[in-house]
Amino acid sequence: MLYQKPKGTRDIHGPDLERIESLSSLARKYFGLNGYQEIRTPAFEFADLFIRSIGEYTDIVEKENYAFHIDDKTYMLRPEGTAPVIRAIIENNIGLPARFLYIEPMYRREKPQKGRFREFLQIGIELIGEADPFYDAEIIAQGRSFLVRAGLKDFRLEINSIGCPVCRRDYKDKLKKELRAKLDQLCDNCQRRVDKNFLRIFDCKQDRCQSIYAGAPSITDNLCADCLRHYQQARSYLDAFSLEYRENKTLVRGLDYYTRTVFEFKHHGLGAQDTLLAGGRYDLLMKELGGKDTPALGWAMGVDRLLIAMPENTLDRVSEPKICLMTSDPRYLRDLISLQSAVHERGLACAIIDPGISFKAQFKKANRLCADLVVIYGEDEARQGLYSVKDMKTGEQVSVPAGEIIGYLKK
Ligand code: ATP
Ligand code: MG
Repeated sequence: MLYQKPKGTRDIHGPDLERIESLSSLARKYFGLNGYQEIRTPAFEFADLFIRSIGEYTDIVEKENYAFHIDDKTYMLRPEGTAPVIRAIIENNIGLPARFLYIEPMYRREKPQKGRFREFLQIGIELIGEADPFYDAEIIAQGRSFLVRAGLKDFRLEINSIGCPVCRRDYKDKLKKELRAKLDQLCDNCQRRVDKNFLRIFDCKQDRCQSIYAGAPSITDNLCADCLRHYQQARSYLDAFSLEYRENKTLVRGLDYYTRTVFEFKHHGLGAQDTLLAGGRYDLLMKELGGKDTPALGWAMGVDRLLIAMPENTLDRVSEPKICLMTSDPRYLRDLISLQSAVHERGLACAIIDPGISFKAQFKKANRLCADLVVIYGEDEARQGLYSVKDMKTGEQVSVPAGEIIGYLKK
């Protein structure tokens, strides 16, 4: 054979390509309904963007990247989607808060194996400009909903909080003191990283290192007061979304600018590469890349792994964007979340606005999401057992008894 494709790449066609296309169009529809706009960024960027954002002492920057030099400049094939989206927002002066979806191939020079390729497709979302822990739970819930809609079963969610630079400063000393006597038992990578990128050591795949870390103090148990409060609130929102999860105190994100909530969805059918979807909050990245100090969060899903884990022909359809749900009181959030599931079940798009802000601010967000109808459930409505429904085009508002709301929205 004269020519072969490079190791770790694939030629995709036939049913495999059809499945990728259905999954991509499902993502466009589903996240479109939730207010996400698609973005495409270049397949290569200046290498510095990734080195700065992902961090020097990470697998991607140390060994897994495709960097190349032309005319005294160093470029890198895109290994991940978050840094380019943030760069694009800063460079194009895009107004915040913003929600972006990307569906793009990524390039990492790693050892090819089941579920691990050198060119692979990711679907990812980024929610930029939102600090409230409600959104930590919401993007996780949207990840779950998407996986369910795609037809995936039997996956599990793990979460953790990795705090902020304040908690990490004291924690780092504590951890190093604990590990000092065992340093020479760690693998070379961990020995180097314990100084440079100490949280990343928990991500080591070597059993011997893991057994040492099992007894070490965790960042989760050493959060500062603000991070602890954020984590507790995010978890109570996860409960409101009825999301079952396991706390994994050794779950960390290697990327330096991740803060607070991190999470992964895993699937048992994938073997060693069992993480399907991973993400978290990265409140420090925008500023690090030269933008304004802006909270943000997101996740990325490996489409190739999803297709390996998923039974065939389970891709269903979703309908047009329509409805936003609002309340002024977090106590009623549970009611809104069950209403949202009922509405989703009938194939209608429906997003909840975070309850911590004024109705005026909530309406502004509903407008941004292009809502046709807004459903309001406040104290008056709860007392009277009804919902107020506002038509965003005509401005007309009507009261609908709780028992009739689904039928009304469907109409
Ligand atoms: P891993 O620990 O498996 O290397 P990661 O932490 O490097 O994963 P992320 O950067 O979080 O992965 O990427 C998000 C998702 O993209 C992963 O959960 C996985 O589904 C997918 N992914 C990452 N690397 C690859 C790859 N080389 N081939 C296929 N899919 C991948
Ligand atoms: Mg990796």
